[in-house]
Amino acid sequence: MSRHIAAAAIRASHKIVAEAEDALNKAIAEKGEGYKFEWPDTAFYLPHIFGMTGIKIETLGQMREGLDYARGMLTPEPAENAYLPYLGETLDAGQATLFAEEILLAARTVTGLEPVVDAETGLTYNGFITDTILRNLGIQLVDGSMPGFAVIIGKAPSEDVAVEICRDLQQRNILTFLCGDGIDSDNVAKQLMRKGVELGWDARLVPLGPNPYHALYAANWACRGALTFGGKKGGDALSVLKYNKDRVFAFAMVMGPMNDLIWATGAGAITYGFPAICDTEVPEIRPTGVCTYEHVVSQTDHKKLVDTCIETRGLKIITTKVPVPVAYGPAFEGERIRKEDTLFEFGGTKSPSFEWIRTKEMEEVEDGKIELIASDETLKKIEAAKPGTPMLLPLGLIVEVAGRKMNPDFEPVIERKLHDYINCAQGIWHMGQRDVNWMRISNNAFSEGFRIKHLGDVMLTMIKAKFPAIVDKVQVKLYLEDAQVKEIQEDARKVYKERNERVAKMTDESVDVFYSCLLCQSFAPNHVCVISPERLGLCGAYNWLDARAANEIDPTGPNQPVLKGDCTDPVKGRWKGVDSYVWQNSHQSLEGFSAYSIMDAPMTSCGCFECIVALVPEANGFMIVNRGFTGMTPIGMKFSTLAGTVGGGTQTPGFGGIGKYFITSKKFLSADGGFKRIVWMPKSLKEALREDLIRRSEEEGVPGFLDMICDETIAEESDGMMEHLTKTGHPALSMESIL
Ligand code: SF4
Ligand code: ZN
Repeated sequence: MSRHIAAAAIRASHKIVAEAEDALNKAIAEKGEGYKFEWPDTAFYLPHIFGMTGIKIETLGQMREGLDYARGMLTPEPAENAYLPYLGETLDAGQATLFAEEILLAARTVTGLEPVVDAETGLTYNGFITDTILRNLGIQLVDGSMPGFAVIIGKAPSEDVAVEICRDLQQRNILTFLCGDGIDSDNVAKQLMRKGVELGWDARLVPLGPNPYHALYAANWACRGALTFGGKKGGDALSVLKYNKDRVFAFAMVMGPMNDLIWATGAGAITYGFPAICDTEVPEIRPTGVCTYEHVVSQTDHKKLVDTCIETRGLKIITTKVPVPVAYGPAFEGERIRKEDTLFEFGGTKSPSFEWIRTKEMEEVEDGKIELIASDETLKKIEAAKPGTPMLLPLGLIVEVAGRKMNPDFEPVIERKLHDYINCAQGIWHMGQRDVNWMRISNNAFSEGFRIKHLGDVMLTMIKAKFPAIVDKVQVKLYLEDAQVKEIQEDARKVYKERNERVAKMTDESVDVFYSCLLCQSFAPNHVCVISPERLGLCGAYNWLDARAANEIDPTGPNQPVLKGDCTDPVKGRWKGVDSYVWQNSHQSLEGFSAYSIMDAPMTSCGCFECIVALVPEANGFMIVNRGFTGMTPIGMKFSTLAGTVGGGTQTPGFGGIGKYFITSKKFLSADGGFKRIVWMPKSLKEALREDLIRRSEEEGVPGFLDMICDETIAEESDGMMEHLTKTGHPALSMESIL
């Protein structure tokens, strides 16, 4: 350990503790000791401090306690030439720094100084990262589509380098947070802004703040990963830190000169197992003796910087090179293309349009062929397209696939992915599916050389890369003539309808095999999802067909067939085969579970649930709240708080995480009274499921049920809800007691 670094980190830890105390005193002077503080949408108080100590800080006064902890970890400031070999002391200084930074940021939020707005550019930094974002990104972090996250501190040597590095990170789908170094008023976020690069969650480039201490927002977010997905308890510092070191692939990239506070914050990050890679000459800390992993690495060649980061932290990047003349990667998925920027537009009720995957015989498909099918006149018109002269076109997009293991049941699984594949191309925007799709190709994409034919290249490449075990050959047909598109659209519609009916007819009884999903075990080691035709995975991303396709594609992967075996309880949904699978794969922590009950041995929850169901005893029913709804619910807990109690792969009778579409399944908590027990859900969720909820209420013989379900616009507390239920004659009130 270099003396210089250790001394710098210790010096800065003293300074930041003093700064935090100062900010806290100011906040207390303004609002008083009893002032309640919480960051928006989190169930974890001041998350870093809670994760490390278990202390639940809810008021300004209690923040003093957190600060005492920080002070306790400080070591005396070293004399100028003191001998300082101690890693331990530097790491303590790092932790003290993170504690102080969290209090500093909380106090600054109270006094209106956070989140920071940049006076010069108007840039509003993100500041605190909510629990909802953690859960929204959960699946991507779990399945490897987002291999990790980066925190960039400082400023690149030029705007072009800043753009190049961030584009590189985007293409590899790494989530990137941006902070300034606190000394230079310029930073990477502002450099990108000046180059017109889109910032924000959709672009996966998120400016946290202008100071190194704003990196704490990334650390206390990572800390919540361990509490949310890993089932770690607040106060179990070592397991929280170890969890991050083993499972969260994060790193810091420091650009430009180092300063004391960066060293100190970096020392804090190192306790989480997150290394720092610097673009300047710095004393490196590589694994030797006490350090078992990389801490500080220097890479002065900007062309190699991203690669060095990835190697140092051991990120596993799976990228497919798509042969198109624009950038390609999930970071461009959320990009919107405005009308004024559009050159080619298809569908969206403005022109006939559809997309359709069809299974063909091997000899019917010429692998790699892409055809534009239209009259010479139309093709000429398209060839003569010029940026600035928008063109509305019909589009029939047919992808024909053949493969020895291809099965028409997989068609919708692949078809649903087209949306992601197309959207990943920069300058191309896609919405909807089937015959309600809508697509735009921007002027910019066209100027960079993107042509309609390239849509074919995107699909060919991605389908072959993602489904190698079931797809051997792919060809793409792009129909661009109105009459022809309309004609084939009719055939496609027949198939869409048949598929709907086939899936709707499938029941849990009609199959012998369910599928497991163990993807989330990388975060929640004992969590098992069992996916049946009538119950999808709780993240909403996998239904039975998806899981089956995934198993065909990767037979040793996380989705395994689970033979149901003898049914031991048809009402609760228990089978011998399922129970023994769960026992083995939960590492003997669960004896099994009930697919149709939440009261008796319910399925476990990892943390990425779309919705949470919770018992409301006084109403003799259940409420459901979806991720993203930040308001209060009648049981007095917000989604974030509830989520904190059901995650981590544990069984919590009365509570459970579910996929949104399970709500309208006939098996929805059918052992506990089912659909008619729903007493409350947010309005937005009601609206999203409207048609299916109406269909289900008719099936259950309670027409008008939708209006009996209370929502936050009627009441968000218990009394008001009960009044509404009584007034509307909600069936749950007269059902058999649930307890
Ligand atoms: Fe995780 Fe279950 Fe979704 Fe699989 S189905 S990704 S285990 S939540
Ligand atoms: Zn999960």
